[in-house]
Amino acid sequence: MTTICVLYPDLLGTYGDGGNGLAMLERARRRGLDATLVRAGLNDEVPDADLYLLGGGEDGPQSLAADLLRRSSFASRVRDGAYVVAVCAGLQILGLTFCVEGNEEFEGLGLVDVVTSRGERRSVGELATRVGSQLLVGFENHGGRTTLHGAVEPFGTIVKGRGNDAKNDGYRTKNIWATYAHGPVLAMNPWFCDEVLATVTGQELEPLASVADLLYQERCRVLSS
Ligand code: GLN
Repeated sequence: MTTICVLYPDLLGTYGDGGNGLAMLERARRRGLDATLVRAGLNDEVPDADLYLLGGGEDGPQSLAADLLRRSSFASRVRDGAYVVAVCAGLQILGLTFCVEGNEEFEGLGLVDVVTSRGERRSVGELATRVGSQLLVGFENHGGRTTLHGAVEPFGTIVKGRGNDAKNDGYRTKNIWATYAHGPVLAMNPWFCDEVLATVTGQELEPLASVADLLYQERCRVLSS
Protein backbone atom coordinates (compact mmCIF):
# COMPACT_ATOMS: atom_id res chain seq x y z
CA MET A 1 0.00 0.00 0.00
CA THR A 2 1.35 3.42 -0.95
CA THR A 3 0.35 6.26 1.35
CA ILE A 4 0.19 9.76 -0.09
CA CYS A 5 -0.14 12.55 2.47
CA VAL A 6 -1.21 16.13 1.75
CA LEU A 7 0.33 18.17 4.56
CA TYR A 8 -1.60 21.09 6.07
CA PRO A 9 -4.00 21.70 3.16
CA ASP A 10 -5.61 24.40 5.33
CA LEU A 11 -2.32 26.40 5.34
CA LEU A 12 -0.56 25.24 2.20
CA GLY A 13 -3.37 24.83 -0.27
CA THR A 14 -3.51 27.94 -2.41
CA TYR A 15 -4.49 27.58 -6.05
CA GLY A 16 -5.93 24.11 -5.52
CA ASP A 17 -2.55 22.53 -4.74
CA GLY A 18 -4.42 19.95 -2.64
CA GLY A 19 -5.53 18.60 -6.03
CA ASN A 20 -2.05 17.13 -6.41
CA GLY A 21 -3.08 14.38 -3.99
CA LEU A 22 -6.28 13.63 -5.92
CA ALA A 23 -4.46 13.52 -9.26
CA MET A 24 -1.85 11.14 -7.87
CA LEU A 25 -4.47 8.88 -6.25
CA GLU A 26 -6.52 8.73 -9.44
CA ARG A 27 -3.55 7.84 -11.65
CA ALA A 28 -2.47 5.18 -9.13
CA ARG A 29 -5.93 3.64 -8.94
CA ARG A 30 -6.35 3.59 -12.72
CA ARG A 31 -3.20 1.46 -12.86
CA GLY A 32 -4.66 -0.89 -10.25
CA LEU A 33 -2.10 0.23 -7.65
CA ASP A 34 -2.99 0.04 -3.98
CA ALA A 35 -2.79 3.67 -2.83
CA THR A 36 -4.43 5.77 -0.18
CA LEU A 37 -4.65 9.52 0.33
CA VAL A 38 -4.54 11.14 3.79
CA ARG A 39 -4.67 14.78 4.77
CA ALA A 40 -2.85 16.03 7.88
CA GLY A 41 -4.41 19.14 9.37
CA LEU A 42 -3.03 21.75 11.75
CA ASN A 43 -3.66 19.75 14.88
CA ASP A 44 -2.61 16.37 13.52
CA GLU A 45 0.69 14.55 13.97
CA VAL A 46 2.55 14.09 10.69
CA PRO A 47 1.44 10.57 9.70
CA ASP A 48 3.66 7.86 8.29
CA ALA A 49 3.57 8.18 4.48
CA ASP A 50 5.58 7.21 1.42
CA LEU A 51 5.02 10.57 -0.28
CA TYR A 52 4.31 13.98 1.24
CA LEU A 53 2.75 16.78 -0.81
CA LEU A 54 3.38 20.37 0.26
CA GLY A 55 1.51 23.16 -1.51
CA GLY A 56 1.84 26.91 -1.79
CA GLY A 57 0.67 29.43 0.79
CA GLU A 58 0.44 33.07 1.72
CA ASP A 59 3.28 34.45 3.87
CA GLY A 60 1.47 34.12 7.25
CA PRO A 61 0.23 30.55 6.83
CA GLN A 62 3.61 29.64 5.30
CA SER A 63 5.55 30.71 8.40
CA LEU A 64 3.04 28.93 10.66
CA ALA A 65 3.39 25.75 8.58
CA ALA A 66 7.19 26.01 8.80
CA ASP A 67 6.91 26.34 12.57
CA LEU A 68 4.65 23.29 12.88
CA LEU A 69 6.85 21.22 10.57
CA ARG A 70 9.99 22.18 12.49
CA ARG A 71 8.43 20.75 15.64
CA SER A 72 7.20 17.59 13.90
CA SER A 73 8.73 14.30 12.71
CA PHE A 74 8.54 15.45 9.07
CA ALA A 75 12.22 16.37 8.53
CA SER A 76 13.51 13.12 10.03
CA ARG A 77 11.06 11.13 7.88
CA VAL A 78 12.39 12.90 4.78
CA ARG A 79 16.00 12.31 5.89
CA ASP A 80 15.05 8.64 6.23
CA GLY A 81 13.97 8.60 2.59
CA ALA A 82 10.28 9.58 2.43
CA TYR A 83 9.49 11.31 -0.88
CA VAL A 84 8.26 14.91 -1.18
CA VAL A 85 6.71 17.02 -3.92
CA ALA A 86 6.87 20.65 -2.79
CA VAL A 87 5.27 23.65 -4.51
CA CYS A 88 6.22 27.31 -3.98
CA ALA A 89 5.86 27.99 -0.22
CA GLY A 90 6.54 24.27 0.30
CA LEU A 91 9.70 24.56 -1.79
CA GLN A 92 10.86 27.53 0.31
CA ILE A 93 10.12 25.84 3.66
CA LEU A 94 12.37 22.85 2.90
CA GLY A 95 15.36 25.19 2.47
CA LEU A 96 17.64 26.90 4.99
CA THR A 97 15.79 30.21 5.29
CA PHE A 98 13.03 32.12 3.51
CA CYS A 99 11.90 35.75 3.60
CA VAL A 100 8.33 36.97 3.60
CA GLU A 101 7.11 40.43 2.55
CA GLY A 102 8.95 43.15 4.50
CA ASN A 103 12.06 40.95 4.41
CA GLU A 104 11.37 39.20 7.69
CA GLU A 105 13.50 36.06 7.69
CA PHE A 106 12.27 32.64 8.83
CA GLU A 107 14.15 29.45 9.45
CA GLY A 108 13.32 26.62 7.05
CA LEU A 109 13.74 22.92 7.73
CA GLY A 110 17.29 22.84 6.37
CA LEU A 111 16.62 19.72 4.29
CA VAL A 112 18.02 21.30 1.13
CA ASP A 113 20.84 23.81 0.71
CA VAL A 114 18.70 26.60 -0.76
CA VAL A 115 17.90 30.12 0.45
CA THR A 116 14.88 32.22 -0.52
CA SER A 117 15.19 35.99 -0.40
CA ARG A 118 12.61 38.56 -1.46
CA GLY A 119 12.60 39.65 -5.10
CA GLU A 120 12.04 43.25 -6.18
CA ARG A 121 8.66 42.35 -7.63
CA ARG A 122 6.31 39.39 -7.48
CA SER A 123 6.56 36.73 -10.15
CA VAL A 124 3.03 36.22 -11.42
CA GLY A 125 1.87 34.43 -14.55
CA GLU A 126 2.35 31.39 -16.69
CA LEU A 127 5.37 29.21 -15.91
CA ALA A 128 6.89 26.66 -18.28
CA THR A 129 10.15 24.86 -17.71
CA ARG A 130 12.16 22.23 -19.56
CA VAL A 131 12.80 19.11 -17.49
CA GLY A 132 14.91 16.72 -19.57
CA SER A 133 12.87 16.02 -22.70
CA GLN A 134 9.61 17.14 -21.07
CA LEU A 135 7.89 20.46 -20.56
CA LEU A 136 6.49 21.27 -17.12
CA VAL A 137 3.57 23.74 -17.29
CA GLY A 138 1.71 25.69 -14.62
CA PHE A 139 1.51 29.17 -13.19
CA GLU A 140 3.35 31.05 -10.49
CA ASN A 141 2.56 33.77 -7.95
CA HIS A 142 5.31 34.45 -5.42
CA GLY A 143 7.56 37.15 -4.04
CA GLY A 144 10.46 34.83 -3.25
CA ARG A 145 13.67 34.32 -5.23
CA THR A 146 15.42 31.07 -4.53
CA THR A 147 19.18 30.51 -4.74
CA LEU A 148 20.55 26.98 -4.91
CA HIS A 149 23.85 26.34 -3.14
CA GLY A 150 26.46 23.60 -3.30
CA ALA A 151 25.53 20.69 -5.53
CA VAL A 152 21.75 21.25 -5.46
CA GLU A 153 20.37 20.75 -8.99
CA PRO A 154 17.48 22.80 -10.38
CA PHE A 155 14.37 20.86 -11.36
CA GLY A 156 13.85 22.68 -14.67
CA THR A 157 15.19 25.36 -16.98
CA ILE A 158 12.89 28.33 -17.58
CA VAL A 159 11.05 28.49 -20.90
CA LYS A 160 8.47 31.03 -19.72
CA GLY A 161 8.06 32.86 -16.40
CA ARG A 162 10.59 33.27 -13.58
CA GLY A 163 10.69 30.30 -11.18
CA ASN A 164 13.72 30.57 -8.84
CA ASP A 165 15.60 33.34 -10.62
CA ALA A 166 14.36 33.65 -14.23
CA LYS A 167 16.86 30.94 -15.27
CA ASN A 168 15.88 27.84 -13.35
CA ASP A 169 12.85 26.49 -11.53
CA GLY A 170 12.83 24.55 -8.28
CA TYR A 171 15.25 21.81 -7.32
CA ARG A 172 15.56 18.07 -7.45
CA THR A 173 17.25 15.86 -4.88
CA LYS A 174 17.21 12.08 -4.47
CA ASN A 175 13.76 12.12 -2.86
CA ILE A 176 12.44 15.67 -3.39
CA TRP A 177 10.87 17.35 -6.40
CA ALA A 178 10.35 21.09 -5.84
CA THR A 179 8.82 23.61 -8.24
CA TYR A 180 7.21 27.04 -8.24
CA ALA A 181 4.43 25.71 -10.51
CA HIS A 182 0.84 25.68 -9.28
CA GLY A 183 -1.86 24.17 -11.42
CA PRO A 184 -2.21 21.84 -9.50
CA VAL A 185 1.08 20.81 -11.06
CA LEU A 186 0.54 17.03 -10.87
CA ALA A 187 -2.90 17.35 -12.50
CA MET A 188 -1.56 19.62 -15.26
CA ASN A 189 1.52 17.50 -15.98
CA PRO A 190 0.57 13.82 -16.14
CA TRP A 191 4.15 12.81 -17.05
CA PHE A 192 5.38 14.42 -13.80
CA CYS A 193 2.66 12.72 -11.75
CA ASP A 194 3.64 9.37 -13.32
CA GLU A 195 7.36 9.98 -12.77
CA VAL A 196 6.75 10.54 -9.05
CA LEU A 197 4.31 7.62 -8.82
CA ALA A 198 6.71 5.24 -10.58
CA THR A 199 9.58 6.30 -8.30
CA VAL A 200 7.58 6.06 -5.09
CA THR A 201 5.98 2.68 -5.90
CA GLY A 202 8.97 1.21 -7.74
CA GLN A 203 6.56 0.12 -10.50
CA GLU A 204 6.83 0.56 -14.24
CA LEU A 205 3.63 2.29 -15.31
CA GLU A 206 1.63 1.66 -18.46
CA PRO A 207 0.74 4.87 -20.34
CA LEU A 208 -2.73 6.19 -19.51
CA ALA A 209 -5.17 7.84 -21.90
CA SER A 210 -6.92 10.60 -19.96
CA VAL A 211 -8.40 14.06 -20.42
CA ALA A 212 -5.46 15.43 -18.38
CA ASP A 213 -3.04 14.00 -20.96
CA LEU A 214 -4.97 15.61 -23.83
CA LEU A 215 -5.09 18.99 -22.04
CA TYR A 216 -1.35 18.76 -21.35
CA GLN A 217 -0.60 18.10 -25.04
CA GLU A 218 -2.78 21.05 -26.02
CA ARG A 219 -0.95 23.36 -23.57
CA CYS A 220 2.41 22.29 -24.97
CA ARG A 221 1.15 22.88 -28.51
CA VAL A 222 0.03 26.43 -27.63
CA LEU A 223 3.31 27.18 -25.82
CA SER A 224 5.42 26.11 -28.76
CA SER A 225 3.30 27.88 -31.41
N1 GLN B 1 4.55 33.29 0.31
C1 GLN B 1 5.50 32.85 -0.69
C2 GLN B 1 5.96 33.93 -1.64
O1 GLN B 1 5.25 34.86 -1.91
C3 GLN B 1 4.92 31.67 -1.45
C4 GLN B 1 3.72 32.01 -2.30
C5 GLN B 1 3.04 30.81 -2.89
O2 GLN B 1 3.14 29.71 -2.36
N2 GLN B 1 2.32 31.00 -3.98
O3 GLN B 1 7.06 33.83 -2.15
